[in-house]
Amino acid sequence: MPRSSRPRCRSSSASGRVEARLTGTALHRPYPPAAPPAYDRGVRVLVVEDELGLREGLCDLLAGDGHEVSAAADGAQGVARGLAEPFDLVVLDLMLPRLDGIEVCRRLRAARPGMPILILTARGGEDDVVRGLGEGADDYVTKPFGARELLARVRALARRAPPRAPETIATDGLSVDLGLLIARRDGGADVALTAREAGILRLLYRHRGRSVTRAELLEQVWGARGDLRTRAVDMAIAVLRKKIERDPASPRIVVSVKGLGYAWGDAEDGP
Ligand code: CA
Repeated sequence: MPRSSRPRCRSSSASGRVEARLTGTALHRPYPPAAPPAYDRGVRVLVVEDELGLREGLCDLLAGDGHEVSAAADGAQGVARGLAEPFDLVVLDLMLPRLDGIEVCRRLRAARPGMPILILTARGGEDDVVRGLGEGADDYVTKPFGARELLARVRALARRAPPRAPETIATDGLSVDLGLLIARRDGGADVALTAREAGILRLLYRHRGRSVTRAELLEQVWGARGDLRTRAVDMAIAVLRKKIERDPASPRIVVSVKGLGYAWGDAEDGP
């Protein structure tokens, strides 16, 4: 599947807002800029930023530069997503609700020692920068920043990100490449998965042996909270089953757990 047709950012983008929020000077459309990127691979980036417009702008900008982007809207969500998924790099605002950026940095750094962290700080926030670097952040950008400056810093850090381990799951005649977003059933044709579908499979597989609630799926895969949207989980899983199950009416891989949620099926796991 061509990279350009894959959904690379799980936040909806508001491209009209990007230019206003990020720069006014440095961001030119259409993207990408005329000069080819100096790095040779996009990386998986987690953006932790509570301000909606800036979060969407960052997602749009980074996705436009070839990265696969996910977003979190507060510090607690940032830690949850950062620990649940193998990101190559985190762009982290410091002033965040629920858990401040310094604490997010400390927790992510403790669990993922090799993962580069770029912090965003308000002008005049030198003390915060010092604290952030002291907690293991690798670099910082001061708001307001230009798009080119941010992309250059991200590219520099991306070069330092450790090579991504292949993420594959094989079970019951199904093989899934979670990095390439491809599933193949019984040696048949490749089926494209969305990033969200891969996120569902990754989360269930990681917690195989127990059930995962709809609320957990919503928080860790959708980046959303609350019970109102759990129907969205059920609908997404119905679509996913049609792609991966031999018989979607009797699922063996993504199984329902009555009253609780979903679980990785006990079909035998293979390498
Ligand atoms: Ca903020």
